[in-house]
Amino acid sequence: MTTRRSDLSQRDQGGSNLDPHTVRYAARTIGMTASEIRALFAVASRPEVVSLAGGMPHLAALPLDVIAAEVGQLVASDGLTALQYGSAQGIPELREQICELMALEGIQAHPDDVVVTVGSQMALDIVTRIFCDPGDVIIAEAPSYVGALGTFTAYQAKVVHVEMDAHGLVPEALRAALRTEAGRRAKFLYTIPNFHNPAGVTLAIERRQEILEICEQFGLLVVEDNPYGLLGFRGQHYPALRSAEPENVVYLGSFSKTFAPGLRVGWALAPHGVREKLVLAAESAILCPPAFTQSVVSRYLATHDWMGQIKAYREAYRERCEAMLASLDHYLPDGCTWTTPEGGFYVWVTVPEGMDTKAMLPRAITERVAYVPGTAFYADSFGSRQLRLSYCYPTPERIKEGVRRLASVIAGELDLLHTFGSVHLRSLSGPQSPSPDTA
Ligand code: PMP
Repeated sequence: MTTRRSDLSQRDQGGSNLDPHTVRYAARTIGMTASEIRALFAVASRPEVVSLAGGMPHLAALPLDVIAAEVGQLVASDGLTALQYGSAQGIPELREQICELMALEGIQAHPDDVVVTVGSQMALDIVTRIFCDPGDVIIAEAPSYVGALGTFTAYQAKVVHVEMDAHGLVPEALRAALRTEAGRRAKFLYTIPNFHNPAGVTLAIERRQEILEICEQFGLLVVEDNPYGLLGFRGQHYPALRSAEPENVVYLGSFSKTFAPGLRVGWALAPHGVREKLVLAAESAILCPPAFTQSVVSRYLATHDWMGQIKAYREAYRERCEAMLASLDHYLPDGCTWTTPEGGFYVWVTVPEGMDTKAMLPRAITERVAYVPGTAFYADSFGSRQLRLSYCYPTPERIKEGVRRLASVIAGELDLLHTFGSVHLRSLSGPQSPSPDTA
């Protein structure tokens, strides 16, 4: 009986046989489509494939035995609080430690204005939830972080991309975007100033004040996403946008890259009123962030040489980045260009005119190398001549081999392009959607 009724509603309202609930979904789910490159990434995780695609931290650098002992002690001594519900805003000790950590980038903050989240991804979600109605505009760099674009889509916000160059977001391009009709409807600027994902560039210090002034002038809030800020290869720290403008910047941080992403501990630092709304949004989503993982992070910061650990991480990343840049230089055919990161996880490569990196991906995977096509990092399907390579996870030897394989795929594509023209290559490409697999 039930089955027949749902069959009827499917026929009437266009539901599908595969998912009888199709007709019930909210309009916001329309943009929530699984990436078609997800299936390819299932293949890319096979050991024979060198994956230059994922952004997985090099956890082998962590002292796992020390952490295991500390977690054991935590349960034995503080289990009754660490395993209990906590406050929606996060545990006070950790919020204090987060303020000390942010001071490294010139931020003076009070623990009351910190909201602990389940990774900075959740902070992105609640910030978008409290600010954006369907159709609202968000300004973001071109390209931008795929996971943020997915969140913006889920809230039916529209993204207007603004040009970057080797020194990050271009102030003049931001000004121009804010003067357009869509720009005038913008709710906030979403920016990753340091060691950008995916572009690998850092916002020049001289531009920071100017960008803050432009946002102030146009009445635009700034959302500063900074998970990689402490991972400069030379140990350099840049002044956070938030350090100069406490009232107009929401700052997002994370322990995913400086400690471990499996703990899912991040945070937002927000002006007072915004912080109150964020806590309410967090409460309705998750009640409270896990007291357990927060306690693990807090204890780790209190008892461990976490700065020494960050140094170990960034030295490994510097070595891997150098291996990648040297291999790109050695193997990639003429006409390819790439960015030179000073920290973080990613290099952004541009291939010659006429090539399509998404169409090329199946062939790259057949040749046992994976990357993320550039279109994943745009809301408007630009980026077909770009691809993101990450050097954080594979060893330098694997990176070298991966780039060698990639170079031979690109060379093969260029041969085809010269023989048949770009129509052949483009015909293999379809629409693209961002995927969290590629974050
Ligand atoms: N922002 C950026 C720019 C990222 O690269 C990532 C992870 N790849 C995140 C936010 C989310 O990180 P997490 O939720 O693990 O803190």
